[in-house]
Amino acid sequence: MSKQHIVIIGAGLGGLSSAIVLQSRGYQVTCLEKNDEPGGKLHEVKLGSASFDFGPNTITMPHVFQDVLKGAGLNPDEYFTFTKLQKHTTNAFPDGTSFSFSSNMEEMQEELFQLDPGAADRYPAYLKEAERLYKLAENHFFNRTFSGFRDYFSFGLARALAASKPVQTMDAFHQRFFSDERIRAAFNRYATYIGSSPFDCPATFSLIGYLELADGVYYTNGGNYKIALGMKRAASDLGVAFHFGEEVTNLEIVNRNVQNVHTKKRMLQADAVIMNGDLLTQFPALVSEDKRPSFSDKKAASFEPSISAAVVLSATDTAFPTNHHHVFFSGDPEKEFRQIFQDKQYGDDPTVYLCTSSRTDHSRSSDGDNVFLLVNAPAVSSKKSEFPIERIYRKLSAYGIDLRHHTTEHQVILPEHIQDSFYAFRGALYGLSANSRKNTFLRPYNQAADISNLYFAGGSTHPGGGSPMVTISGVRTAELLMKQQR
Ligand SMILES: Cc1cc2nc3c(=O)[nH]c(=O)nc-3n(C[C@H](O)[C@H](O)[C@H](O)COP(=O)(O)OP(=O)(O)OC[C@H]3O[C@@H](n4cnc5c(N)ncnc54)[C@H](O)[C@@H]3O)c2cc1C
Repeated sequence: MSKQHIVIIGAGLGGLSSAIVLQSRGYQVTCLEKNDEPGGKLHEVKLGSASFDFGPNTITMPHVFQDVLKGAGLNPDEYFTFTKLQKHTTNAFPDGTSFSFSSNMEEMQEELFQLDPGAADRYPAYLKEAERLYKLAENHFFNRTFSGFRDYFSFGLARALAASKPVQTMDAFHQRFFSDERIRAAFNRYATYIGSSPFDCPATFSLIGYLELADGVYYTNGGNYKIALGMKRAASDLGVAFHFGEEVTNLEIVNRNVQNVHTKKRMLQADAVIMNGDLLTQFPALVSEDKRPSFSDKKAASFEPSISAAVVLSATDTAFPTNHHHVFFSGDPEKEFRQIFQDKQYGDDPTVYLCTSSRTDHSRSSDGDNVFLLVNAPAVSSKKSEFPIERIYRKLSAYGIDLRHHTTEHQVILPEHIQDSFYAFRGALYGLSANSRKNTFLRPYNQAADISNLYFAGGSTHPGGGSPMVTISGVRTAELLMKQQR
Protein backbone atom coordinates (compact mmCIF):
# COMPACT_ATOMS: atom_id res chain seq x y z
CA MET A 1 0.00 0.00 0.00
CA SER A 2 1.40 3.42 -0.87
CA LYS A 3 2.13 5.80 1.98
CA GLN A 4 -0.25 8.67 2.76
CA HIS A 5 1.21 11.96 1.60
CA ILE A 6 1.18 14.85 4.08
CA VAL A 7 2.13 18.35 2.98
CA ILE A 8 3.41 20.77 5.61
CA ILE A 9 3.32 24.50 4.90
CA GLY A 10 6.26 26.15 6.68
CA ALA A 11 9.48 24.85 8.22
CA GLY A 12 9.21 26.69 11.55
CA LEU A 13 9.70 24.67 14.74
CA GLY A 14 6.02 23.66 14.62
CA GLY A 15 6.27 22.36 11.04
CA LEU A 16 9.61 20.61 11.59
CA SER A 17 8.35 18.74 14.65
CA SER A 18 5.17 17.63 12.82
CA ALA A 19 7.32 16.45 9.90
CA ILE A 20 9.59 14.36 12.15
CA VAL A 21 6.68 12.70 13.96
CA LEU A 22 4.75 11.86 10.79
CA GLN A 23 7.67 10.66 8.68
CA SER A 24 8.89 8.42 11.52
CA ARG A 25 5.40 6.89 11.77
CA GLY A 26 5.18 5.76 8.16
CA TYR A 27 3.78 8.79 6.29
CA GLN A 28 5.53 10.49 3.36
CA VAL A 29 5.98 14.14 4.25
CA THR A 30 6.77 17.08 1.96
CA CYS A 31 7.56 20.41 3.62
CA LEU A 32 7.24 23.63 1.59
CA GLU A 33 8.93 26.74 2.99
CA LYS A 34 8.87 30.16 1.37
CA ASN A 35 12.19 31.22 2.89
CA ASP A 36 15.58 29.75 2.00
CA GLU A 37 16.28 28.18 5.39
CA PRO A 38 14.54 26.16 8.10
CA GLY A 39 13.49 27.46 11.52
CA GLY A 40 11.13 30.32 10.62
CA LYS A 41 11.56 32.96 13.32
CA LEU A 42 14.49 30.95 14.75
CA HIS A 43 17.36 31.41 12.32
CA GLU A 44 20.92 32.65 12.21
CA VAL A 45 22.09 36.08 11.06
CA LYS A 46 25.78 36.76 10.37
CA LEU A 47 27.39 40.21 10.47
CA GLY A 48 31.17 40.33 10.01
CA SER A 49 32.75 37.91 12.47
CA ALA A 50 29.65 37.80 14.70
CA SER A 51 26.65 35.51 14.47
CA PHE A 52 23.24 35.99 16.09
CA ASP A 53 20.09 34.04 16.83
CA PHE A 54 17.19 35.99 15.44
CA GLY A 55 14.07 35.01 17.41
CA PRO A 56 14.40 32.73 20.43
CA ASN A 57 17.37 33.79 22.54
CA THR A 58 15.94 32.40 25.78
CA ILE A 59 15.50 28.65 25.62
CA THR A 60 13.50 26.79 28.27
CA MET A 61 12.24 23.17 28.37
CA PRO A 62 15.06 21.66 26.26
CA HIS A 63 13.51 18.21 26.82
CA VAL A 64 10.66 19.25 24.50
CA PHE A 65 13.05 19.49 21.51
CA GLN A 66 14.95 16.35 22.56
CA ASP A 67 11.73 14.34 22.96
CA VAL A 68 10.71 15.00 19.34
CA LEU A 69 13.88 13.28 18.14
CA LYS A 70 13.76 10.53 20.77
CA GLY A 71 10.17 9.76 19.73
CA ALA A 72 11.44 9.20 16.18
CA GLY A 73 14.09 6.75 17.40
CA LEU A 74 16.97 9.27 17.03
CA ASN A 75 19.62 10.33 19.53
CA PRO A 76 19.04 14.07 20.12
CA ASP A 77 22.66 14.60 21.24
CA GLU A 78 23.75 13.91 17.67
CA TYR A 79 21.68 16.89 16.51
CA PHE A 80 21.92 19.54 19.27
CA THR A 81 23.13 19.90 22.85
CA PHE A 82 22.42 22.42 25.60
CA THR A 83 24.28 24.29 28.35
CA LYS A 84 22.33 25.34 31.44
CA LEU A 85 22.98 28.98 32.43
CA GLN A 86 23.21 29.51 36.21
CA LYS A 87 22.76 33.23 36.98
CA HIS A 88 21.09 33.66 33.64
CA THR A 89 19.44 37.10 33.59
CA THR A 90 20.49 40.37 35.20
CA ASN A 91 17.72 42.91 35.87
CA ALA A 92 18.97 46.52 36.02
CA PHE A 93 16.89 49.50 37.16
CA PRO A 94 17.08 53.25 36.58
CA ASP A 95 18.04 53.88 40.24
CA GLY A 96 21.32 52.02 39.66
CA THR A 97 20.32 48.82 41.52
CA SER A 98 20.21 45.38 39.95
CA PHE A 99 19.68 41.73 40.81
CA SER A 100 20.02 38.50 38.86
CA PHE A 101 17.71 35.56 38.29
CA SER A 102 19.16 32.18 39.10
CA SER A 103 17.76 28.67 39.01
CA ASN A 104 19.57 27.97 42.30
CA MET A 105 17.26 28.66 45.27
CA GLU A 106 19.94 29.93 47.69
CA GLU A 107 21.58 32.14 45.09
CA MET A 108 18.19 33.54 44.09
CA GLN A 109 17.30 34.37 47.70
CA GLU A 110 20.65 36.13 48.16
CA GLU A 111 19.97 38.20 45.04
CA LEU A 112 16.47 39.19 46.19
CA PHE A 113 17.75 39.97 49.70
CA GLN A 114 19.88 42.84 48.34
CA LEU A 115 16.72 44.65 47.21
CA ASP A 116 14.12 43.43 49.72
CA PRO A 117 14.71 40.87 52.50
CA GLY A 118 10.95 40.18 52.65
CA ALA A 119 10.97 39.11 48.99
CA ALA A 120 13.75 36.62 49.73
CA ASP A 121 11.59 35.12 52.54
CA ARG A 122 8.52 34.84 50.35
CA TYR A 123 10.35 33.48 47.31
CA PRO A 124 9.95 29.74 48.18
CA ALA A 125 6.16 30.23 48.54
CA TYR A 126 6.07 32.05 45.18
CA LEU A 127 7.99 29.27 43.46
CA LYS A 128 5.68 26.62 44.95
CA GLU A 129 2.60 28.39 43.62
CA ALA A 130 4.24 28.91 40.20
CA GLU A 131 5.03 25.18 40.18
CA ARG A 132 1.39 24.34 40.91
CA LEU A 133 0.31 26.49 37.94
CA TYR A 134 2.92 24.84 35.73
CA LYS A 135 1.80 21.30 36.66
CA LEU A 136 -1.83 22.18 35.98
CA ALA A 137 -0.97 23.54 32.54
CA GLU A 138 1.28 20.58 31.77
CA ASN A 139 -1.44 18.09 32.68
CA HIS A 140 -4.40 19.83 31.07
CA PHE A 141 -3.36 22.35 28.41
CA PHE A 142 0.12 21.83 26.94
CA ASN A 143 -0.26 18.27 25.80
CA ARG A 144 -3.61 18.33 24.09
CA THR A 145 -5.09 19.61 20.89
CA PHE A 146 -8.44 21.28 20.40
CA SER A 147 -10.32 20.53 17.21
CA GLY A 148 -13.74 21.88 18.19
CA PHE A 149 -15.74 23.52 20.93
CA ARG A 150 -16.72 20.12 22.35
CA ASP A 151 -13.10 19.59 23.40
CA TYR A 152 -13.53 22.27 26.07
CA PHE A 153 -16.32 20.34 27.79
CA SER A 154 -14.48 18.00 30.09
CA PHE A 155 -14.85 18.02 33.85
CA GLY A 156 -11.09 17.71 34.41
CA LEU A 157 -10.37 20.60 32.08
CA ALA A 158 -13.04 22.83 33.63
CA ARG A 159 -11.65 22.14 37.09
CA ALA A 160 -8.10 22.79 35.94
CA LEU A 161 -9.18 26.01 34.27
CA ALA A 162 -10.84 27.26 37.43
CA ALA A 163 -7.75 26.37 39.50
CA SER A 164 -5.36 28.07 37.10
CA LYS A 165 -6.22 31.62 38.22
CA PRO A 166 -7.80 32.71 34.94
CA VAL A 167 -9.38 35.82 36.48
CA GLN A 168 -6.51 37.25 38.55
CA THR A 169 -3.92 39.17 36.51
CA MET A 170 -0.24 38.25 36.54
CA ASP A 171 0.61 41.55 38.25
CA ALA A 172 -1.98 40.96 41.00
CA PHE A 173 -0.52 37.48 41.54
CA HIS A 174 3.01 38.90 41.86
CA GLN A 175 1.81 41.59 44.29
CA ARG A 176 0.95 38.79 46.73
CA PHE A 177 4.63 37.90 47.04
CA PHE A 178 6.64 40.98 46.06
CA SER A 179 5.95 44.51 47.32
CA ASP A 180 9.14 45.99 45.82
CA GLU A 181 8.24 47.52 42.45
CA ARG A 182 11.60 46.67 40.89
CA ILE A 183 11.28 43.00 41.78
CA ARG A 184 7.70 42.93 40.53
CA ALA A 185 8.74 44.53 37.24
CA ALA A 186 11.30 41.77 36.72
CA PHE A 187 8.76 38.97 37.39
CA ASN A 188 6.04 40.76 35.40
CA ARG A 189 8.31 40.74 32.36
CA TYR A 190 7.43 37.05 31.95
CA ALA A 191 4.15 38.25 30.38
CA THR A 192 6.17 39.40 27.37
CA TYR A 193 7.26 35.77 26.79
CA ILE A 194 3.74 35.19 25.59
CA GLY A 195 3.58 38.63 23.99
CA SER A 196 1.20 40.09 26.56
CA SER A 197 0.82 42.64 29.33
CA PRO A 198 1.12 41.52 33.00
CA PHE A 199 -1.67 43.99 33.81
CA ASP A 200 -4.11 42.10 31.58
CA CYS A 201 -2.96 38.49 31.08
CA PRO A 202 -4.13 35.83 33.54
CA ALA A 203 -1.96 34.78 36.48
CA THR A 204 -1.93 31.31 34.87
CA PHE A 205 1.18 32.41 32.97
CA SER A 206 3.19 32.99 36.14
CA LEU A 207 4.08 29.36 35.45
CA ILE A 208 6.81 30.79 33.17
CA GLY A 209 8.63 31.86 36.34
CA TYR A 210 8.73 28.23 37.44
CA LEU A 211 10.18 27.18 34.10
CA GLU A 212 12.99 29.75 34.21
CA LEU A 213 13.71 29.74 37.92
CA ALA A 214 13.34 26.06 38.80
CA ASP A 215 13.87 24.19 35.54
CA GLY A 216 16.35 26.74 34.18
CA VAL A 217 17.37 28.75 31.13
CA TYR A 218 19.48 27.06 28.46
CA TYR A 219 21.73 27.94 25.57
CA THR A 220 22.06 25.64 22.58
CA ASN A 221 25.76 24.99 22.04
CA GLY A 222 26.90 26.80 18.90
CA GLY A 223 23.69 28.90 18.81
CA ASN A 224 19.98 28.37 19.41
CA TYR A 225 19.41 28.15 15.64
CA LYS A 226 21.13 24.73 15.91
CA ILE A 227 17.78 23.42 17.18
CA ALA A 228 16.21 24.32 13.82
CA LEU A 229 19.16 22.99 11.81
CA GLY A 230 19.19 19.78 13.90
CA MET A 231 15.47 19.23 13.44
CA LYS A 232 15.76 19.81 9.69
CA ARG A 233 18.66 17.33 9.47
CA ALA A 234 16.72 14.77 11.53
CA ALA A 235 13.68 15.17 9.27
CA SER A 236 15.86 14.77 6.15
CA ASP A 237 17.56 11.69 7.66
CA LEU A 238 14.11 10.16 8.11
CA GLY A 239 13.16 10.93 4.49
CA VAL A 240 11.13 14.16 4.60
CA ALA A 241 11.28 16.04 1.27
CA PHE A 242 11.97 19.78 1.67
CA HIS A 243 11.49 22.55 -0.89
CA PHE A 244 12.92 25.87 0.29
CA GLY A 245 12.24 29.19 -1.41
CA GLU A 246 8.84 27.81 -2.40
CA GLU A 247 5.75 29.62 -1.20
CA VAL A 248 2.37 27.88 -1.10
CA THR A 249 -0.02 30.09 -3.07
CA ASN A 250 -3.32 28.19 -2.96
CA LEU A 251 -5.06 25.18 -1.43
CA GLU A 252 -7.53 23.53 -3.78
CA ILE A 253 -10.58 22.42 -1.78
CA VAL A 254 -12.93 19.75 -3.17
CA ASN A 255 -15.82 18.36 -1.07
CA ARG A 256 -14.49 19.92 2.15
CA ASN A 257 -11.05 18.37 1.61
CA VAL A 258 -7.74 19.84 0.52
CA GLN A 259 -6.98 17.92 -2.63
CA ASN A 260 -3.98 19.77 -4.07
CA VAL A 261 -1.40 22.22 -2.77
CA HIS A 262 -0.12 24.80 -5.26
CA THR A 263 3.13 26.72 -5.45
CA LYS A 264 4.40 28.69 -8.44
CA LYS A 265 6.58 25.71 -9.39
CA ARG A 266 4.40 22.66 -8.66
CA MET A 267 1.11 21.14 -7.66
CA LEU A 268 1.19 18.45 -4.97
CA GLN A 269 -1.62 16.01 -4.23
CA ALA A 270 -2.13 15.77 -0.45
CA ASP A 271 -3.96 13.29 1.77
CA ALA A 272 -3.75 15.87 4.55
CA VAL A 273 -2.10 19.27 5.13
CA ILE A 274 -0.59 20.87 8.22
CA MET A 275 -0.35 24.65 8.07
CA ASN A 276 2.57 25.85 10.21
CA GLY A 277 2.62 29.32 8.64
CA ASP A 278 0.58 31.69 10.83
CA LEU A 279 -3.01 30.54 10.38
CA LEU A 280 -4.40 34.06 10.94
CA THR A 281 -2.73 35.26 7.74
CA GLN A 282 -2.29 32.05 5.71
CA PHE A 283 -5.68 30.35 6.17
CA PRO A 284 -7.41 33.43 4.68
CA ALA A 285 -4.65 33.85 2.05
CA LEU A 286 -4.66 30.25 0.79
CA VAL A 287 -8.31 29.16 1.08
CA SER A 288 -11.12 31.16 -0.50
CA GLU A 289 -13.58 32.56 2.07
CA ASP A 290 -16.59 30.55 0.81
CA LYS A 291 -14.74 27.32 1.69
CA ARG A 292 -14.22 28.35 5.33
CA PRO A 293 -17.55 29.75 6.63
CA SER A 294 -16.48 29.11 10.25
CA PHE A 295 -13.35 31.23 9.87
CA SER A 296 -14.25 34.38 7.93
CA ASP A 297 -11.75 37.15 7.17
CA LYS A 298 -13.58 39.22 9.81
CA LYS A 299 -13.08 36.53 12.45
CA ALA A 300 -9.36 36.18 11.59
CA ALA A 301 -8.91 39.94 11.97
CA SER A 302 -10.75 39.98 15.32
CA PHE A 303 -7.94 38.33 17.31
CA GLU A 304 -5.48 40.52 19.23
CA PRO A 305 -1.91 39.91 18.08
CA SER A 306 0.87 39.37 20.59
CA ILE A 307 3.55 41.96 21.10
CA SER A 308 5.97 42.61 18.25
CA ALA A 309 9.57 43.77 18.54
CA ALA A 310 12.19 46.09 17.19
CA VAL A 311 15.54 44.33 17.13
CA VAL A 312 19.06 45.69 16.58
CA LEU A 313 21.82 43.17 15.91
CA SER A 314 25.23 44.74 16.66
CA ALA A 315 28.63 43.22 16.03
CA THR A 316 30.95 45.16 18.35
CA ASP A 317 34.72 45.69 18.62
CA THR A 318 34.69 45.36 22.40
CA ALA A 319 33.10 43.19 25.09
CA PHE A 320 30.62 44.93 27.41
CA PRO A 321 30.06 44.19 31.12
CA THR A 322 26.75 42.44 30.48
CA ASN A 323 25.33 39.07 31.46
CA HIS A 324 24.21 36.57 28.77
CA HIS A 325 20.68 37.98 29.30
CA HIS A 326 20.47 41.54 30.61
CA VAL A 327 17.39 43.70 31.00
CA PHE A 328 17.42 47.48 31.49
CA PHE A 329 14.02 48.34 32.89
CA SER A 330 11.79 51.28 32.15
CA GLY A 331 11.22 53.71 35.03
CA ASP A 332 7.48 53.12 34.53
CA PRO A 333 6.75 49.62 33.15
CA GLU A 334 2.97 49.97 33.59
CA LYS A 335 2.99 53.05 31.35
CA GLU A 336 5.14 51.23 28.80
CA PHE A 337 2.63 48.35 28.53
CA ARG A 338 -0.23 50.85 28.23
CA GLN A 339 1.57 52.70 25.48
CA ILE A 340 2.27 49.47 23.55
CA PHE A 341 -1.14 47.79 23.81
CA GLN A 342 -3.55 50.71 24.09
CA ASP A 343 -1.81 53.64 22.38
CA LYS A 344 0.00 51.31 19.92
CA GLN A 345 3.23 53.27 20.40
CA TYR A 346 6.74 52.44 21.60
CA GLY A 347 7.23 53.28 25.27
CA ASP A 348 8.67 56.76 26.02
CA ASP A 349 11.15 55.03 28.30
CA PRO A 350 11.34 51.50 26.89
CA THR A 351 12.61 48.41 28.69
CA VAL A 352 15.66 47.23 26.74
CA TYR A 353 16.63 43.56 26.58
CA LEU A 354 20.14 42.54 25.52
CA CYS A 355 21.26 39.02 24.74
CA THR A 356 25.00 38.58 24.38
CA SER A 357 25.51 34.88 23.74
CA SER A 358 29.23 35.53 23.12
CA ARG A 359 29.45 35.79 26.93
CA THR A 360 28.84 32.02 27.08
CA ASP A 361 30.12 31.02 23.64
CA HIS A 362 33.13 33.04 22.39
CA SER A 363 32.94 31.35 18.99
CA ARG A 364 29.98 33.58 18.17
CA SER A 365 31.97 36.80 18.11
CA SER A 366 35.76 36.70 17.86
CA ASP A 367 36.32 40.50 17.88
CA GLY A 368 33.94 41.69 20.59
CA ASP A 369 30.29 40.93 21.36
CA ASN A 370 27.25 39.84 19.38
CA VAL A 371 24.64 42.10 20.95
CA PHE A 372 21.00 41.26 20.24
CA LEU A 373 18.94 44.24 21.41
CA LEU A 374 15.16 43.92 21.66
CA VAL A 375 12.55 46.48 22.55
CA ASN A 376 8.88 45.55 22.85
CA ALA A 377 6.91 47.07 19.99
CA PRO A 378 3.22 47.44 19.19
CA ALA A 379 1.85 45.06 16.56
CA VAL A 380 1.65 46.53 13.06
CA SER A 381 -1.41 48.79 12.72
CA SER A 382 -2.50 51.91 10.89
CA LYS A 383 -1.00 54.01 13.74
CA LYS A 384 2.61 54.89 13.02
CA SER A 385 5.21 54.84 15.77
CA GLU A 386 8.90 55.71 15.28
CA PHE A 387 11.46 53.27 16.75
CA PRO A 388 13.28 55.48 19.32
CA ILE A 389 16.76 54.13 18.57
CA GLU A 390 18.68 57.26 19.66
CA ARG A 391 16.89 57.30 23.02
CA ILE A 392 17.79 53.64 23.50
CA TYR A 393 21.46 54.22 22.71
CA ARG A 394 21.48 57.10 25.23
CA LYS A 395 19.84 54.92 27.88
CA LEU A 396 22.43 52.17 27.41
CA SER A 397 25.38 54.60 27.47
CA ALA A 398 24.29 55.65 30.97
CA TYR A 399 25.06 52.03 31.95
CA GLY A 400 28.47 52.14 30.22
CA ILE A 401 27.29 50.35 27.07
CA ASP A 402 28.28 52.60 24.22
CA LEU A 403 26.83 50.68 21.32
CA ARG A 404 26.90 53.60 18.91
CA HIS A 405 30.69 53.96 19.02
CA HIS A 406 31.58 50.28 19.32
CA THR A 407 29.35 48.79 16.64
CA THR A 408 31.23 47.65 13.55
CA GLU A 409 28.20 46.28 11.68
CA HIS A 410 24.54 46.30 12.54
CA GLN A 411 21.10 45.41 11.28
CA VAL A 412 17.75 46.84 12.42
CA ILE A 413 14.64 44.65 12.18
CA LEU A 414 11.22 46.26 12.70
CA PRO A 415 7.72 44.75 13.15
CA GLU A 416 6.89 45.22 9.44
CA HIS A 417 9.91 43.09 8.55
CA ILE A 418 8.75 40.32 10.93
CA GLN A 419 5.31 40.49 9.32
CA ASP A 420 6.68 40.25 5.78
CA SER A 421 9.45 37.69 6.39
CA PHE A 422 7.30 35.04 8.08
CA TYR A 423 3.77 36.22 7.21
CA ALA A 424 3.34 36.72 10.96
CA PHE A 425 -0.06 38.20 11.90
CA ARG A 426 0.64 41.96 12.23
CA GLY A 427 4.30 41.20 13.03
CA ALA A 428 3.41 39.24 16.19
CA LEU A 429 6.24 37.28 17.81
CA TYR A 430 3.99 34.76 19.55
CA GLY A 431 0.79 34.59 17.48
CA LEU A 432 -1.97 35.81 19.74
CA SER A 433 -1.66 37.86 22.90
CA ALA A 434 -3.04 36.37 26.12
CA ASN A 435 -4.50 39.70 27.25
CA SER A 436 -8.09 38.51 26.91
CA ARG A 437 -9.58 35.23 28.13
CA LYS A 438 -10.84 34.58 24.56
CA ASN A 439 -7.34 34.78 23.09
CA THR A 440 -5.92 32.68 25.94
CA PHE A 441 -8.35 29.84 26.33
CA LEU A 442 -10.31 29.98 23.06
CA ARG A 443 -7.50 30.14 20.51
CA PRO A 444 -8.17 28.95 16.96
CA TYR A 445 -8.33 25.14 16.97
CA ASN A 446 -5.67 22.76 15.68
CA GLN A 447 -8.02 21.68 12.91
CA ALA A 448 -10.16 23.54 10.38
CA ALA A 449 -13.87 23.23 11.17
CA ASP A 450 -14.92 23.21 7.50
CA ILE A 451 -12.09 21.24 5.87
CA SER A 452 -11.62 17.75 7.22
CA ASN A 453 -7.96 17.17 6.31
CA LEU A 454 -6.50 20.60 7.17
CA TYR A 455 -4.63 21.01 10.47
CA PHE A 456 -2.76 23.86 12.18
CA ALA A 457 0.46 23.86 14.23
CA GLY A 458 2.30 26.88 15.62
CA GLY A 459 2.02 30.02 17.68
CA SER A 460 -1.51 31.09 16.72
CA THR A 461 -3.15 27.80 17.72
CA HIS A 462 -2.90 25.56 20.81
CA PRO A 463 -1.07 25.50 23.12
CA GLY A 464 0.50 28.88 22.18
CA GLY A 465 3.63 30.79 21.18
CA GLY A 466 7.27 30.46 22.25
CA SER A 467 9.71 27.86 20.96
CA PRO A 468 8.81 24.93 23.26
CA MET A 469 5.06 25.52 22.91
CA VAL A 470 5.06 25.60 19.09
CA THR A 471 7.16 22.41 19.10
CA ILE A 472 4.58 20.73 21.35
CA SER A 473 1.90 22.08 19.00
CA GLY A 474 3.62 20.40 16.04
CA VAL A 475 3.86 17.04 17.81
CA ARG A 476 0.29 16.99 19.14
CA THR A 477 -1.19 18.15 15.84
CA ALA A 478 0.66 15.36 14.02
CA GLU A 479 -0.79 12.89 16.54
CA LEU A 480 -4.30 14.30 16.01
CA LEU A 481 -3.88 13.90 12.26
CA MET A 482 -2.70 10.28 12.64
CA LYS A 483 -5.67 9.46 14.86
CA GLN A 484 -8.18 10.93 12.43
CA GLN A 485 -6.74 10.08 9.02
CA ARG A 486 -5.75 6.49 9.76
C1 LIG B 1 12.48 38.73 17.81
C2 LIG B 1 11.88 37.49 18.42
C3 LIG B 1 12.28 37.07 19.68
C4 LIG B 1 11.75 35.90 20.23
N1 LIG B 1 12.22 35.46 21.44
C5 LIG B 1 11.86 34.24 21.90
C6 LIG B 1 12.50 33.66 23.02
O1 LIG B 1 13.42 34.24 23.60
N2 LIG B 1 12.10 32.42 23.43
C7 LIG B 1 11.11 31.72 22.76
O2 LIG B 1 10.81 30.58 23.13
N3 LIG B 1 10.48 32.25 21.70
C8 LIG B 1 10.83 33.48 21.24
N4 LIG B 1 10.23 34.00 20.13
C9 LIG B 1 9.03 33.34 19.57
C10 LIG B 1 9.36 32.13 18.72
O3 LIG B 1 10.32 32.49 17.78
C11 LIG B 1 8.10 31.66 18.00
O4 LIG B 1 7.03 31.43 18.92
C12 LIG B 1 8.32 30.37 17.24
O5 LIG B 1 9.60 30.28 16.66
C13 LIG B 1 7.26 30.29 16.16
O6 LIG B 1 7.33 29.05 15.52
P1 LIG B 1 6.19 28.60 14.50
O7 LIG B 1 6.56 27.22 14.08
O8 LIG B 1 4.85 28.79 15.10
O9 LIG B 1 6.22 29.65 13.30
P2 LIG B 1 7.32 30.38 12.42
O10 LIG B 1 8.64 30.36 13.05
O11 LIG B 1 6.74 31.68 12.07
O12 LIG B 1 7.39 29.45 11.13
C14 LIG B 1 6.39 29.45 10.16
C15 LIG B 1 7.05 29.26 8.81
O13 LIG B 1 6.04 29.19 7.80
C16 LIG B 1 6.53 29.85 6.62
N5 LIG B 1 5.38 30.20 5.78
C17 LIG B 1 4.37 31.04 6.07
N6 LIG B 1 3.49 31.09 5.05
C18 LIG B 1 3.97 30.26 4.09
C19 LIG B 1 3.51 29.90 2.79
N7 LIG B 1 2.37 30.38 2.26
N8 LIG B 1 4.25 29.02 2.07
C20 LIG B 1 5.41 28.50 2.58
N9 LIG B 1 5.90 28.83 3.79
C21 LIG B 1 5.17 29.70 4.54
C22 LIG B 1 7.27 31.04 7.18
O14 LIG B 1 8.20 31.57 6.25
C23 LIG B 1 7.95 30.44 8.42
O15 LIG B 1 9.24 29.97 8.12
C24 LIG B 1 10.75 35.16 19.53
C25 LIG B 1 10.35 35.59 18.26
C26 LIG B 1 10.92 36.72 17.69
C27 LIG B 1 10.52 37.11 16.29
